[in-house]
Amino acid sequence: MSQIKERELACANCGTEFSRPVHQLVDMENEADSEALWQLQNGTFNRVSCPKCGTAGFIPAEVALHIPAEELVLVYVPNVQLMDEQQLGQSIGPIMEEFIVSIPEERQADYMLQPIITDEISTLQAAARGEIVADDLGAEGDDYDDEFDDDDQPPVLTEEEHQAILARRELIQNLFQAADSLERISMMRNYIMLIDELFLELLAALAEQAETVQPDLVPILQKIINEAEVILASSQG
Ligand SMILES: [Zn+2]
Repeated sequence: MSQIKERELACANCGTEFSRPVHQLVDMENEADSEALWQLQNGTFNRVSCPKCGTAGFIPAEVALHIPAEELVLVYVPNVQLMDEQQLGQSIGPIMEEFIVSIPEERQADYMLQPIITDEISTLQAAARGEIVADDLGAEGDDYDDEFDDDDQPPVLTEEEHQAILARRELIQNLFQAADSLERISMMRNYIMLIDELFLELLAALAEQAETVQPDLVPILQKIINEAEVILASSQG
């Protein structure tokens, strides 16, 4: 059974709202998913064009890839490094539940409950093309505890770290609304306790994501990064 969900989208360029069906699960054994698999292999998966202005972009939506031959379930979760365990569960729980239910009971296996998470869609693309196998991802063996010790697993954030990230993300949102560089610098000076290495890391992650999702945001993000670096340097000096 294919898992397809209608997603509401808004064009990053002109703001036009539209909806598109998005695949949440690509099962390499399922004939119905063969077109989605092919799109994953050739890099056109979940790519959309705005019906009004034609601006193309990638939909950063969770998707699971099931590779029975490798006994591997690989799940793309955008921004997983910014999630705590609960948020990750909410993000992929419904997809994984529907997946397990779709497998006949006699064929259900432990590895299906131990998905490997990645925040890079390119990892799924490479796995779909057979360029990455389960061993590359540290998925060998049945030892559940080992899985959690693996570097590929997302870090679990403490409540304190989670709050720290939320506060900085809110500031970044506000900086986008600022009229110019002067206003942004003044805002950052007002929240100087939030301007630190973590703040720069979040900006860098956003900039990397924007390159594929919203390229028009990259210049402004780069300016904010430069301004934050200057402020951080002067506050430390
Ligand atoms: Zn548009």
